[in-house]
Amino acid sequence: MRPLLEVANLAKAFGGLVAVDDVSFSLARGELLALIGPNGAGKSTCFNLISGQLAPDAGSVRLEGRAITGLSPRRIGRLGVGRTFQVAATFASMTVAENVQTAILARERRVFDVFSRAARAHRTEALALLAEVGLAERADAPASTLAYGDAKALELAIALAQRPRLLLMDEPTAGMAPGERGALMALARRLVRERGLGVLFTEHSMDVVFAHADRILVMARGRLIAQGPPAQIRADARVHEVYFGSGRLLASPAG
Ligand code: ADP
Ligand code: MG
Repeated sequence: MRPLLEVANLAKAFGGLVAVDDVSFSLARGELLALIGPNGAGKSTCFNLISGQLAPDAGSVRLEGRAITGLSPRRIGRLGVGRTFQVAATFASMTVAENVQTAILARERRVFDVFSRAARAHRTEALALLAEVGLAERADAPASTLAYGDAKALELAIALAQRPRLLLMDEPTAGMAPGERGALMALARRLVRERGLGVLFTEHSMDVVFAHADRILVMARGRLIAQGPPAQIRADARVHEVYFGSGRLLASPAG
């Protein structure tokens, strides 16, 4: 079976700066893959190339064998790539459940109308998704009243409403307390196992990465310098030199 995601020789420059330089890797169904590296290594640019926010200068991105390189974010989303953002993107004026219903309706290409039959039918599905991310009891609260960790969980439910096969999470636990971080990653792990999703995530906390990732990709200055299971990455001399050598193994500023 082909990998869920295949990235080959991906490259992107901004002016004279090569942000992503000949990056190749693949991701299997049911895999939780971490992308780490110092600030400015090119992690977010990689995400933007995969999800269509940016078009690459060279290289290809394949989803289940199908080339998605350079398609619009909308097309790529419809083909099964979901994404969460560093700042949770929710509608503050709607309830928690309505946010998820809106995403379900968008998947079905409908516009949200609280009183429509479709909206009521999709409430059941929305509640099931909210239960999955631990927000069932907050379903009818305004989204604006959610605590930070809950807002991130809602964003995850919104992403899942699109029924993605691949989920991209750029710094999903940024700004969270340590307890919340563990809970969100445990949730991601469960989704990977139960739904057979593939997840690619970036993360600053090495504790989170080494505790949860199946495999780790390490980028530095646009290049992929190592990839392998956590134990192998921990022992990799080049990774230590380029990345951990900064003396900031456990923490580095968000960016
Ligand atoms: P990371 O997510 O690993 O911190 P980024 O992918 O955000 O790194 O950035 C990689 C490099 O590309 C950085 O030097 C950054 O300043 C630069 N860069 C990112 N996006 C843009 C852009 N839209 N325009 C110009 N330079 C950019
Ligand atoms: Mg980034």
